Amino acid sequence: MTPLLFVPDDGSAREATRFGEHTMTYDRLAAASTSLAARLSGAGRVAVWATPTPETVVAVVAALRAGVPAVPLNPKTGTRELAHIVADSEPTVVLAGAGDVLPPVLDTLDRIDVDTAPDGGGGGAALPEPSPESPALIVYTSGTTGPPKGAILPRRAIAASLDALEDAWQWTGDDVLVHALPLFHVHGLILGVLGPLRRGGSVRHLGRFSTGGVARELSSGGTMLFGVPTMYHRLAEALDGSAPGAAELAKALAGARLLVSGSAALPVHDHERIAAATGRRVIERYGMTETLMNTGVRADGEPRPGTVGAPLRGVELRLVEEDGTVLTDPDAIGEIQVRGTNLFTGYLNRPDATAAALTEDGWFRTGDMATRDTDGYVRIVGRKATDLIKSGGYKIGAGEIENALLDHPGVHEAAVTGEPDPDLGERIVAWVVPADPASPPTTDELADHVAAQLSPHKRPRTVRYLDALPRNDLGKIMKRSLHA
Ligand code: ATP
Ligand code: MG
Repeated sequence: MTPLLFVPDDGSAREATRFGEHTMTYDRLAAASTSLAARLSGAGRVAVWATPTPETVVAVVAALRAGVPAVPLNPKTGTRELAHIVADSEPTVVLAGAGDVLPPVLDTLDRIDVDTAPDGGGGGAALPEPSPESPALIVYTSGTTGPPKGAILPRRAIAASLDALEDAWQWTGDDVLVHALPLFHVHGLILGVLGPLRRGGSVRHLGRFSTGGVARELSSGGTMLFGVPTMYHRLAEALDGSAPGAAELAKALAGARLLVSGSAALPVHDHERIAAATGRRVIERYGMTETLMNTGVRADGEPRPGTVGAPLRGVELRLVEEDGTVLTDPDAIGEIQVRGTNLFTGYLNRPDATAAALTEDGWFRTGDMATRDTDGYVRIVGRKATDLIKSGGYKIGAGEIENALLDHPGVHEAAVTGEPDPDLGERIVAWVVPADPASPPTTDELADHVAAQLSPHKRPRTVRYLDALPRNDLGKIMKRSLHA
């Protein structure tokens, strides 16, 4: 197998990463990761205190080179969840930046401070490339539907998924990726860091997302932007003609080669606002921790708002009815199942969950519900557990109602859930953050708006007003905490 990462030790002054003012060439990265890798060999698993810093990049690359599985930790995780992850993944070592203050639950681990510029360079013999099936990373799922589970990701899956994106996006070593995502999930770490490092390209991390930072980096060499929908929402707001810097931002976005959104559904309303202001359409891709990337709109493909594109190279995808029937009708809603070399090996310590997630012949049950157009474009309607509402004999996806609500001028944010109803089975409930809290749109007004855009049986019966929606660190709406 070709090495997972392009990290040549050949005097290459090519820039690998940039975090604010701190830049690291491939040469420096090779030296720092080789020297750290030498200290890691023999460790069981290593935890990485995954702040958005070059230290995190060096730590992960060193672990990959040493063939020691790395467990990226979210530094903002609460004590209880962190204790669960540490007990579950049993790392022996934690890698952190010299200035990081680690919580007491990590006290039992050996700590190694990562040095991005060690004295005397890397040295040492080239490390053998570990086998393709060996676990490279253990990444915890976002915990949107339950406690996070550790997905064991072999090198084979990471390589396959990154190469499928290379194919879809004509991603090369000349690309300069701009992002501001956290480095402990698939999106920010595997796509956002290992993606450029596999190609020999570079990544510029903003540290903290800002629309000004995006404008600055895209107008000074950045070619691609990876973001989550909440970031594109903020970009859409900042592109509003009256906002300061709107013209510069529009120009920077228009000049990018690719604007990519993932991790949650990009509202159609934001997609259209960005397209209107920049002439550019954001493309969506769909993936998950366990499967890495499944579908995506191609760089040379047609971006369609509300769709996540077609299956990527090497990914088989089917839609399945509750009784196991494979759907063929383009309008029918079914659960997405995927199969391919992009899949994880299983959940750590959870043979029960692994067995429940996979069919006998190796299809992964994603728990996401979708329809598929005749040309293969997938439209996600939502998650089986929280977004599929069975009301009055209809199967209704929360996503399209959310999109319709967001299109109403009085709505700033919206989430739709189902609640038990004696008459309908389930009743559609809209959780709305009004644009103007002093005069929120009425239930009737919103219900009529949805009925006019979609159809009468999709009207919300109840509207609940909130100041903000509960979201996690990737901006995903935590529907399990929306209760009456
Ligand atoms: P948990 O599995 O712990 O409940 P999670 O599913 O949110 O959390 P991730 O693996 O980070 O954890 O997220 C994968 C999920 O994110 C997918 O199953 C899908 O529901 C959603 N998702 C990812 N990309 C998109 C997209 N482009 N459009 C809609 N949903 C998306
Ligand atoms: Mg999940």
